[in-house]
Amino acid sequence: MFRTLEKSIPNTDDSDLSGDDFSLFGRKDSGNLIRPDSSGSGALSQGLQVRFVRRVKGVEVPIEGLVFRAQTAPDGASKSFRSDQDGVIRDPDCEKPSISVAVTLETPRFLVSPGSAPYELFLSLKCGVAQTMIFDEDSEAGQVIAVWQTLVRAEKKLSQSVGVGFWKRQIEMVLSGKGDYYSGDVVNLTQGHHWDVVAHELGHAIYDQAGIGAFGGGQHYIDQCYTGALAFSEGWASFFSAWMNLGLADPDAQFEYMVKRRAPIRFENIPSDVCRKSTN
Ligand SMILES: [Zn+2]
Repeated sequence: MFRTLEKSIPNTDDSDLSGDDFSLFGRKDSGNLIRPDSSGSGALSQGLQVRFVRRVKGVEVPIEGLVFRAQTAPDGASKSFRSDQDGVIRDPDCEKPSISVAVTLETPRFLVSPGSAPYELFLSLKCGVAQTMIFDEDSEAGQVIAVWQTLVRAEKKLSQSVGVGFWKRQIEMVLSGKGDYYSGDVVNLTQGHHWDVVAHELGHAIYDQAGIGAFGGGQHYIDQCYTGALAFSEGWASFFSAWMNLGLADPDAQFEYMVKRRAPIRFENIPSDVCRKSTN
């Protein structure tokens, strides 16, 4: 299920965190349909092999957790597929020259949408060719996939640590471009590739769902002092983002995009003009 955008007062208003380095909808596909930005092919003697990657500053980051069903043999039953941690799906029995599939970017725990139905990723698969499906950082498809990668990573890391028993309600990630904030199981985002901001906003949804604490609410600026509840809810969301993305051994751990005018935000080495402890 998906929800329409809620008009209620957000739990968070993180406009201070947002940046605007890409125009999100400069290369927009239509509605909720997206496709890879490009594809590559290599030799494969038989069967199906597809690798899904998003190019981040020239580095190919595997796309895990893409799930779909497809009939790959002319007279076979349809099978279910899920891209693995290397972003790869395989089927040795695949025989068809072309297979069209749609991947709905939704699971029972989360979905990514433009504000209405979940995004649908359309793919043309081929047997007997090693395919690579490539997403760019600055396309709408690449922005959607970046959010998907954060969600799959969060579910995996939580499963491997505290478990996901608390995660009972579906979280909707909306690439609305209208702000970064969380409100009632819906996360609004301006930029999908802003990994630190996306994970911070998802952190608010996890904090809410797990009943970790109260929300402070309201507009806030990282270089002004916070109330206790605001400091805890904002701090926990940033902790979650750091836990998701950064190494414990990093002596100068930092975010990349969060609060553009102060980026990179450091949290082992806090600037002297930022409030301390329970005030930020
Ligand atoms: Zn926040």
